Amino acid sequence: FVFFSSDIEISRAQSPKAVDVLAKEIGLLTDEIEIYGQTKAKVRLSLLERLKDQPDGKYVLVAGITPTPLGEGKSTVTIGLVQALTAHLDINSFACLRQPSQGPTFGVKGGAAGGGYAQVIPMEEFNLHLTGDIHAITAANNLLAAAIDARILHENTQSDKALYNRLVPVVNGVRGFSAIQLARLRRLGINKSDPGTLTEEEVSKFARLDIDPSTITWQRVVDTNDRFLRKITVGQANTEKGFIRQAQFDIAVASEIMAILALTTSLQDMKERLGKMVVANDKKGEPVTAEDLGVTGALAVLMKDAIKPTLMQTLEGTPVFVHAGPFANIAHGNSSVLADKIALKLVGETGFVVTEAGFGADIGMEKFFNIKCRASGLVPSVVVLVATVRALKMHGGGPNVTAGAPLKKEYTEENLQLVADGCCNLQKQIQIAQLFGVPVVVALNVFKTDSVAEVDLVCKIAKQSGAFDAVPCNHWSAGGRGAVKLAQAVEKAARQKNSFKYLYSLELPIVEKIRIIAQKVYGAEDIELSLAAQTQIDRYTRQGFGNLPICMAKTHLSLSHQPERKGVPTGFILPISDVRASIGAGFIYPLVGTMSTMPGLPTRPCFYDIDLDPITEQVKGLF
Ligand code: ADP
Repeated sequence: FVFFSSDIEISRAQSPKAVDVLAKEIGLLTDEIEIYGQTKAKVRLSLLERLKDQPDGKYVLVAGITPTPLGEGKSTVTIGLVQALTAHLDINSFACLRQPSQGPTFGVKGGAAGGGYAQVIPMEEFNLHLTGDIHAITAANNLLAAAIDARILHENTQSDKALYNRLVPVVNGVRGFSAIQLARLRRLGINKSDPGTLTEEEVSKFARLDIDPSTITWQRVVDTNDRFLRKITVGQANTEKGFIRQAQFDIAVASEIMAILALTTSLQDMKERLGKMVVANDKKGEPVTAEDLGVTGALAVLMKDAIKPTLMQTLEGTPVFVHAGPFANIAHGNSSVLADKIALKLVGETGFVVTEAGFGADIGMEKFFNIKCRASGLVPSVVVLVATVRALKMHGGGPNVTAGAPLKKEYTEENLQLVADGCCNLQKQIQIAQLFGVPVVVALNVFKTDSVAEVDLVCKIAKQSGAFDAVPCNHWSAGGRGAVKLAQAVEKAARQKNSFKYLYSLELPIVEKIRIIAQKVYGAEDIELSLAAQTQIDRYTRQGFGNLPICMAKTHLSLSHQPERKGVPTGFILPISDVRASIGAGFIYPLVGTMSTMPGLPTRPCFYDIDLDPITEQVKGLF
């Protein structure tokens, strides 16, 4: 390779092989792929059936220490590691990555295709629309949002009879229930299938969902950091007859439908999960679901292609699945169970699948184990914990690291004291991984400003802190070749005894589960519930949702709820401001402190640097 300065130039300098060639190389049959352009293909789920007797490969999770706002290189390590395994050690491997959100791509952090010589190519395809999965999620999410408000309007402006006549229309002289409506009748205990035979009371029960607008938890979404949509008022046109209410937009990747896509195991399972999503309560305090609104089938139709993982390749031509979404702080932030399962079959018993969990191990990895592994039943073999000298110096008391601003001299010159002081965060994150009984390999992602003494110090402390091994990695500047030592360490660690376990039992009360995560993972003294949080917990418990795992929405910039507290904060009480439930995805979702589910744009967002050359159609400025 010739050295180019930017990620997009490196990406463009390498021509990807045609995706059908790649598909053939990894053993896919022609009718198992659906090609999008020349470098992307969706993979059909029928593959799982064909390969069901094939033993799984080893399953590796890449997590990280508490990052700076710039990111410490988890995606880059994931890609460097598979490049090293496949292209340099001749071991079959697959990377399973998350599809980036356009929020960060145009906002602060940039894309997520990796970087330098450890990238997925073409990176602009990866970072922009990919194969449209996030658009499908947005469409499905907003169809459901529209269905809720429209239903409230119609129910409140029509008599029971008129409502019923419209919901169950006469077609060719015959009034008939749809399959979805028949299912609703059964749920209501009305065992009739002839619409003409319902009593007045049954007509009213069937036609009215009686949604209490103050309990609506389903929000509209858009995949843009649009801070002005954090609080909105809907229904202001006269045609909505005064049904005005306060609402909000969330970023699309935080939609429950994204979480369902990430956790589902089949089309049938996805449909059931979509139907189970609770969007509000009725006036009696009972949950109202997507199924009650009659929209399950339509949602499944919108999501039918999104459920298939997208195949792409690394710079060194090794296979990658891109599927499901980012944001481990406000969502569960893991790539999909389906992509991991298919990849584990494709690599074969001696192969490796490397997947990534967002942000620090305290959030992404904790959710990977307690939520994703529970949904998939898969057992991980190794955790790779990514650290950088830069982030460790920040934890040791170095000045703030801000996106877009040049790094201060503490970060560009050797400073062993700051590194040593900051290793407490690395040590704590190793201990968190060990709570789950899986061996940890620390990958020190080397930057050109790191000194040999700093690198050696981190590796020494990591090993003293219980890591199985700790190795410096140079994949960003050297590609797979720079991660061979990491690949060897991971291969060795995967042969270690593994005593994987979850952190808490699902049977515990919701509050207890939250407390266990707060104390054992974040290091909090205790938790403090707001009145709203307590009310919601009581409600979800009463509604029978108490046995779900927990998906904490917490800042990724600190182990605590306060982003400015670096290192290993102690003596704090974790405030739980609200609790939501994602019943279709299958988790309870506590909000820690003031977490926003819609990021904002800064004064100088990344979009200033992004441009298109109209002659060559080349995209510039993505990173
Ligand atoms: P994460 O997945 O942890 O958020 P990424 O792998 O996306 O982090 O890396 C964040 C950014 O830092 C990317 O733009 C990447 O190119 C850059 N980067 C990562 N590792 C290095 C390195 N060793 N040297 C220089 N830049 C790097």
